[in-house]
Amino acid sequence: MAKKVVSTGSTTAKTGSTTVQAGFDYAPAPESRAIVDIKSSYGLFINGEFVDSTGGNSFKTISPSTEEVLAEIAEANDADVDAAVRAARRAYTRVWSKMSGAERGKYLYRIARIIQERAREFAVLESIDNGKPIKESRDVDVPTVAAHFFYYAGWADKLEFSGFGPDPKPLGVAGQIIPWNFPLLMLAWKIAPALACGNTVVLKPAETTPLTALLFAEVCQQADLPPGVVNIVTGAGPTGQAIVSHPDVDKVAFTGSTDVGRAIAKAIAGTEKKVTLELGGKAANIVFEDSPVDQAVEGIVNGIFFNQGHVCCAGSRLLVQESVADEVLERLKRRMATLRVGDPLDKNTDIGAINSAEQLAKIRELSEIGELEGAERWSPPCELPAHGFWFPPTIFTGVTAAHRIAREEIFGPVLSVITFRTPAEAVEKANNTPFGLSAGIWTEKGSRILWMASRLRAGVVWANTFNRFDPTSPFGGYKESGYGREGGRHGLEAYLR
Ligand code: NAP
Ligand code: MG
Repeated sequence: MAKKVVSTGSTTAKTGSTTVQAGFDYAPAPESRAIVDIKSSYGLFINGEFVDSTGGNSFKTISPSTEEVLAEIAEANDADVDAAVRAARRAYTRVWSKMSGAERGKYLYRIARIIQERAREFAVLESIDNGKPIKESRDVDVPTVAAHFFYYAGWADKLEFSGFGPDPKPLGVAGQIIPWNFPLLMLAWKIAPALACGNTVVLKPAETTPLTALLFAEVCQQADLPPGVVNIVTGAGPTGQAIVSHPDVDKVAFTGSTDVGRAIAKAIAGTEKKVTLELGGKAANIVFEDSPVDQAVEGIVNGIFFNQGHVCCAGSRLLVQESVADEVLERLKRRMATLRVGDPLDKNTDIGAINSAEQLAKIRELSEIGELEGAERWSPPCELPAHGFWFPPTIFTGVTAAHRIAREEIFGPVLSVITFRTPAEAVEKANNTPFGLSAGIWTEKGSRILWMASRLRAGVVWANTFNRFDPTSPFGGYKESGYGREGGRHGLEAYLR
């Protein structure tokens, strides 16, 4: 890293009417990157082997915290995608769909155990390629990935008891396209249930974060997974389009933006293909006056600053009851001043790098629009590293429902604060969005939690917590947040006939 991290130091910062007492300095505590062996170039993983792309094109993946080029990645064209789909079809027909569920389960358990064994390698690689803090990749992403494989391994021989008919059958070849915000976790959400149900897959990771998917391909080799059961094709939008439009793909599973989700829904309309779409969000994190304020503040911070706010279910709209708004905001600002932004590999880092220059430009643009539309912007004093892509934790107050920062997904560490007076007003404001992925409720009253949860149009509602992910729990949205569920028993339905 060119410049070492930010801390607000031991100074006392005067910010508007709030006096922020920052903490003490932290000594650097970098996780060693010696454990990962990043090759200078990577091929496509087709039929159990790494192969060159037939077109010979490639692209670079960089570390967003340093802008260092990490590796040259093969770009799959239509012919490569076709080869991957054919490999997946062969493996499906000859091997995987014929194997008993118990045997498939053994492979999934083996993959889960190898991921646990190589957890540090995966965590370091994810933080380097994506920019997320090591404490998150190490404590959240990778353990949840292993948990997903363990969980669906357990279902593989029990599908007839899953509630989807006496003898549920796999769909065939699944084409899976994932985004850059949780590269390995989204891969696990897609691959684990698909394989457990007896499907084979062709998966495309995002252009900016291909490395952990390619390391996962090595894990498939290490686990002796039959060739062709998992195929990984790297590339950008056109590679994704080639998967979606391939005539021999039976199911498309997509996580990403609502715009691309719409294009995919159009592209497969009128075909036999099944589809699940996990799209964007603009979740309300609702804080009532009877909530335990310090816990709520931690929940607000976790809701919007976890993973730099690159979270589809992020609590990007804080709805706070007017009677406690001043107190909550004051404590929130004090807490934000202690967040450490910087080197993703430093174990003390809370907020890492923005994933790409493109995403940073989008966050900056929407934040400027927030100011132009009249909302008041605040960030703690925060020195950012000289290289790489960075954005300080930011809140906007004085936000109204009409503001673009209240309606559009910013997908960055930016929170819009809105107040309400009554529970009914909170419900109305929370539901006033084209999205419907998640919501949070902070209150001491169980009855209020249930009253709110039954009225919120959101696929996931957290009570007195936020951004909790568990493989046993279904996840997915309403309205423009997409359709279909991932995780839990519900997640099997997307891969069964
Ligand atoms: P994106 O542009 O939609 O990209 C998602 C994936 O689709 C990437 O692999 C992308 O490739 C690929 N792609 C792009 N154009 C395509 C096309 N025309 N046909 C097929 N595939 C195509 O979204 P993003 O910017 O990477 O991710 C951010 C968005 O994802 C946010 O809106 C966020 O809310 C959403 N998201 C939702 C969930 C959820 O579970 N609901 C989870 C995470 C993220 P390249 O990136 O390589 O170009
Ligand atoms: Mg990268």
